[in-house]
Parts: sequence; structure tokens; C-alpha cells
Amino acid sequence: MSADLTELYQQVILDHNKRPRNRGKLPTANRVAHGDNPTCGDQCSVYLRLEGDRIADISFDGSGCAISQASASLMTTQIKGKTTAEAEVLFQQFHDIVTSGKEPEEISDLAAFAGVHAFPARIKCATLGWHAALNALHGDASPATTESHTD
Ligand code: ZN
Repeated sequence: MSADLTELYQQVILDHNKRPRNRGKLPTANRVAHGDNPTCGDQCSVYLRLEGDRIADISFDGSGCAISQASASLMTTQIKGKTTAEAEVLFQQFHDIVTSGKEPEEISDLAAFAGVHAFPARIKCATLGWHAALNALHGDASPATTESHTD
């Protein structure tokens, strides 16, 4: 990765951390899930309003490290307006990026987290919000925990 691109991607994470998008409870939410990453102390709740099969609105709330909160913020911007299936595809892409460090050919905000692959403990931080969002989409009432996943 070029130095310029590294810089760009770092800016994406810093920006989401400083000015989180879609943060706070969503009063109109009809799905809620909570995620917990005890190894780092990260918490993330995801609120979304599902209309048919489309994510009409989404927000997150939580506390924890910069990676977990920036990733949750980015996640909300990526899957808002998408269908459940589209959100799953995006998560798969994001998961591949953070576990392999391989970036997609097109510049994507998701690739801002490629550097996380070098710090395996941080992969749980980066995927926490996504796991919570997918649990909310699937109407799984049990809390999302990174501990039950091999990543
Ligand atoms: Zn963390």
C-alpha cells in the first residue's frame, strides 16, 4: 500500500472516531442487538428499522476503543439503505479485509481497516458492530459476543 493511501485510510478511521455517524438511540428502531467484546472492553448496541427487507434507518451506541467505535460508525454508513443480503455481502468483504489485510482493488472506506489484520486481537474490535448489526437483522435476541466466533 502506498504511503498516501495509508494516510488516507488512517484519516477515515480518525474521522469516524472524532465525528461518529448515526450515533445514539434510534427511536423508530424495530430491531436492536447488543455486542460485547470483553477482551478489549468494547460495547456496541445497534438499532435499526427494517422496512420489508431493507434497512431504512440505523444507528449505534457504545463505548470502547477507537477501532471498535470507528468501525461501528462506518458500518452504519455502509449498510443504511441496503437489504439484509447486501449487508451480509458487505460484512463478508469487510471480514476478508480485516482478517487477510488484502484490500479491494477499488478504493473503499472498508479498506481503511485493512491494517487491523496485523493485530489479531483487534479484529474483534473491528467486527463487533457488524456482528451486532447482523444479529439485529436476523432478530436474534441473544447478545452478540465476539467470543463465540473464531475470528
Ligand atoms: Zn477494542
